[in-house]
Amino acid sequence: MTDRQLQRAVVTGGAGFLGSHLCTALLARGTEVVCLDNFLTGDPANVAHLVGEPGFHLTSCDVTDFVHVPGPVDLVLHLASPASPVDYLHLPIHTLKVGAIGTFHALGLAKDKGARFVLASTSEVYGDPQVHPQPEDYWGHVNPVGPRGVYDESKRYAEALTTAYRGVHDVDTGIARLFNTYGPAMRSGDGRAIPTFITQALAGEPVTVAGDGRQTRSICYVDDLVRGVLALAASDDAGPVNLGNPTELSVEQIARDVVAATGSRSPIVHVDRPVDDPQVRRPDITRARERLGWEPRITWEDGLGRTVRWFVDARRQAA
Ligand code: NAD
Repeated sequence: MTDRQLQRAVVTGGAGFLGSHLCTALLARGTEVVCLDNFLTGDPANVAHLVGEPGFHLTSCDVTDFVHVPGPVDLVLHLASPASPVDYLHLPIHTLKVGAIGTFHALGLAKDKGARFVLASTSEVYGDPQVHPQPEDYWGHVNPVGPRGVYDESKRYAEALTTAYRGVHDVDTGIARLFNTYGPAMRSGDGRAIPTFITQALAGEPVTVAGDGRQTRSICYVDDLVRGVLALAASDDAGPVNLGNPTELSVEQIARDVVAATGSRSPIVHVDRPVDDPQVRRPDITRARERLGWEPRITWEDGLGRTVRWFVDARRQAA
């Protein structure tokens, strides 16, 4: 593992949930950041605190059209893509285009600049897994013609493309398979369980758990995830490397904990489960531990408390 000098980074999808945290963390480490985003599912407000800071550049850009960045670049972090089921089910063709054409363009930039390239892939490449927990050498169980196929296959394609650029063009690539992550700056309407539950609980509305709630999720607090992505970026590891929190919680438990953390009196109700919703999900993070010296540090209780406080503040400011 090298600990390279990253003087200038490009973050595609940098105005989204994870991208905005990564831009903030890179700047704090003294790396200049060029944030590219078309604001499809992200929001300039997520990086408003960085605008005007020396070394931060926000550019409106659709990475499926082109990616042009003048000057030297040491790192390309490719995050641009709809990421929540609500978004990618609403934008199926864009999701496939950004995984294919957008990834071509982002890899092309890394190739031209001689930069390290890190792909934000996903645990969804494992589909509804038949191996549990999921190690990186598990090939997955994905339904390509199911509704979630657009996202899963887009990321599987992006991984294959990234691997080809490493083999053919010698681009210094890394693939991060990110598992469910939560924290401040998530959109309350993005359809993911935690922001949905917090928003419902704070409004005193019923908290809607899909199915019987016994399906599990492993959820990582965003600061831990950012540390993992940056450790992969600083290394020369090709991956794929799972980054996520192996603590597994049932969706019902997550809902109960959210209701308790918000002090809400909301009831928990059960609604229909989406098609192809994975039953279990837990990363095997042995590789990240061994190769990057990374593991999550923030407990669910701590992370949930920080996230609830952020949502409470955001509601106050919007009122
Ligand atoms: P997000 O929707 O908040 O961020 C995605 C960003 O990409 C948005 O700002 C959006 O406007 C931008 N974008 C979309 N299409 C674009 C295009 N064509 N050109 C430029 N920008 C474009 O989602 P997120 O949760 O921050 O996810 C970021 C990345 O991490 C995604 O690639 C996602 O697949 C991956 N990921 C996220 C999670 C998670 O739990 N959040 C888990 C696994 C993987």
